Amino acid sequence: MDRLTEISAGIFVATGDLYVTNSTVVRGADGGCLVIDPAVTLGELAGLAADLGRLSLRPRAGFATHPHWDHVLWSSGLGADVPRYASPLAVAVAGRERSGLIEAAEMSAPGHDLDLFGRLTPLGPAADAIAWDGPSALVVTHQGHAPGHSAVFLPDSGTLVAGDMCSDIEIPLLDLDQADPVGDYLAGLNRLAALPVVRVIPGHGTVADAAEFLRRVEADIAYLVSLQQGDEPRDPRMAADWLISEHQRQFAHVTGTRG
Ligand SMILES: [Zn+2]
Repeated sequence: MDRLTEISAGIFVATGDLYVTNSTVVRGADGGCLVIDPAVTLGELAGLAADLGRLSLRPRAGFATHPHWDHVLWSSGLGADVPRYASPLAVAVAGRERSGLIEAAEMSAPGHDLDLFGRLTPLGPAADAIAWDGPSALVVTHQGHAPGHSAVFLPDSGTLVAGDMCSDIEIPLLDLDQADPVGDYLAGLNRLAALPVVRVIPGHGTVADAAEFLRRVEADIAYLVSLQQGDEPRDPRMAADWLISEHQRQFAHVTGTRG
């Protein structure tokens, strides 16, 4: 895992080896910080806590963008009592699917403290920001990729912490349990595209500037429109075997339920 690196004033990213997963830290007042989606192996979470110690930053709040196992992790080194927020729907789903999430975590990144795993606090039903002593952190909740998926937008710096969207290495991954997974994803992308984004931090992949953010949004829309039209998309991100099989599953699902 890369060391926690300051990519913009007061905004730090560490990139893990497993799935090129990004953990984001935002510096707040008085040595506090907000930790978004800390990931992903036990060793990487320990490294993150050590890096925060070196920077004299103490987590005051956490945030989980969505209820998938690699986004609801935590460790006692980050502070066992720190509130970790997520959208109400994401919290409900993480609770309902807890045993499956734990099973997936144990398979891919074993050894996490299961008392802390997925212990999330719902944002207020009308909350559109994370309440904490630091830069404004707006929450943009939609239903693309996972129920209650929430990006965090930091308007002071124009930084979008996108969760599992806007990746340069992953095609859009749909939640096929939903009635309209493509429509949900497109609606989410449109919400993000309307923001004054200066840089994007994807859940998996490379941090990018505004032009590359827009290129990714367009590539994602092109992929999704191909699915809707029943055309085989040409997307260079479909390289790894697991992404090719995810694509085949999505293609079969969407073309099979069309019309
Ligand atoms: Zn995910």
